[in-house]
Amino acid sequence: MIPAASFAGKRVSLFGLGGSGIATARALIAGGAEVLAWDDNPDSVSKAADVGIATADLRGADWARFSAFVLSPGVPLTHPKPHWTVELARGSGVEIIGDIELFCRERMLGAPMSPFIAITGTNGKSTTTALAAHILKAAGRDTQMGGNIGRAVMTLDPPQPGRHYVVECSSYQIDLAPSINPTAGILLNLTPDHLDRHGTMQHYASIKERLVAGSETAIIGIDDSWCAQIAERLERAGRHVIRISKRLPLTDGYFADSGNLMEAVHGRYSRVAFLEGIGSLRGQHNAQNALAAVAACLRVGLDLGEIQSGLESFPGLAHRMEQVGRKDHVLFINDSKATNADAAAPALSSFPRIYWIAGGLPKEGGIEPLRGFFPRIAKAYLIGEAAPAFSATLGEAVPYEISGTLAAAVEHAAHDAARDDSGEVVVLLSPACASFDQFKNFEVRGEAFRQAANAIEGVKPIGGAR
Ligand code: ADP
Repeated sequence: MIPAASFAGKRVSLFGLGGSGIATARALIAGGAEVLAWDDNPDSVSKAADVGIATADLRGADWARFSAFVLSPGVPLTHPKPHWTVELARGSGVEIIGDIELFCRERMLGAPMSPFIAITGTNGKSTTTALAAHILKAAGRDTQMGGNIGRAVMTLDPPQPGRHYVVECSSYQIDLAPSINPTAGILLNLTPDHLDRHGTMQHYASIKERLVAGSETAIIGIDDSWCAQIAERLERAGRHVIRISKRLPLTDGYFADSGNLMEAVHGRYSRVAFLEGIGSLRGQHNAQNALAAVAACLRVGLDLGEIQSGLESFPGLAHRMEQVGRKDHVLFINDSKATNADAAAPALSSFPRIYWIAGGLPKEGGIEPLRGFFPRIAKAYLIGEAAPAFSATLGEAVPYEISGTLAAAVEHAAHDAARDDSGEVVVLLSPACASFDQFKNFEVRGEAFRQAANAIEGVKPIGGAR
């Protein structure tokens, strides 16, 4: 745990007592603050009280006495409308911050030179965070990883010289971290997402921009126009910007060229790493993630040999194009995290011949946006409530069956794929749907796929992720 010493002897109010809220309250208390916490959910309040956190309905509190208000990132700060606690804090001029802000302040107090890599973007945050942390650890660096992935940031070990932090930041967390100042800040990409919580795309992009604007080095994926403009703007303001592109050669920066990760310096190119043969980093989207992680690791002083060996030993993250098993020429891929068409697109674009398991609780727009990938689909196996709608979209374009359950889909897809003699093929679960009609969440769905695939005679499990 990182005791939040920056609030020693001060009063702090806190709202939101989920896992990270409780961890943050404990860090504040350990640092010597007096914390008063609350949540709209009575169960969360009693859990907090059970572990010794003082709780009270903040409607009745004297807000003028608080030095700060710590808000959980899940609670609306601005949209659709500010939470009532936000109104009360603003009314009394109390600053509103989150756990990442507390972390940044503790780092500045404890070890301001400790390397800090912060990652944001619409997609690929967790993969890039896990990859950068893996490369650093594999190179023997003292590394702590957390934030929006794994451990809440205040539960990490305290800053000390030479300790590296790799922290995933959602836009909600950045919104609550006004002094975020990483050594290397990564902005991977920007596409419309969570606009219910951010209002407009402009507002969403401006929050993400703050992470890189505060960075000593800003690493920015410039393959979308929002990020390209941010890179321009920061560079004009005199900031150190490193551009990355998964598809275009750059004059300066890092770009991907058919499996090679290239560095460009004034138009002269050299290869810094390669992804060829690395099963956990297939696909153009992963080239973007790898470029960002490589640029950040170079920025904090790793050498090319350390970086290549870290890339090669990266196990990947569970449920994101995760290899779970193989039988001869058939590879089983679990992409259960793909809960809408956009998220399924990277997997469908990464394999030439696919036995595709899709369906679940449908999302708006269905699979129409994936039409461009239909020629790669040898056959589709439809499950859950979305099956009728998906079958209507597939129509004559793709052979399909309505399998109903995931277990039946895996069995039938594996059977058909085994008889395909066109080289390597995949049985891919990339459902383009939420899981809740048949499973508790996407993780449980992914585990069910892994078990069903590995229950097929002759399938050899591929371990690693998780
Ligand atoms: P996040 O943490 O931002 O949600 P993840 O790393 O968990 O991202 O990846 C989630 C899904 O997003 C992946 O399964 C893949 O479909 C897609 N994805 C991953 N990286 C990228 C990227 N750089 N660009 C676009 N899509 C990506």
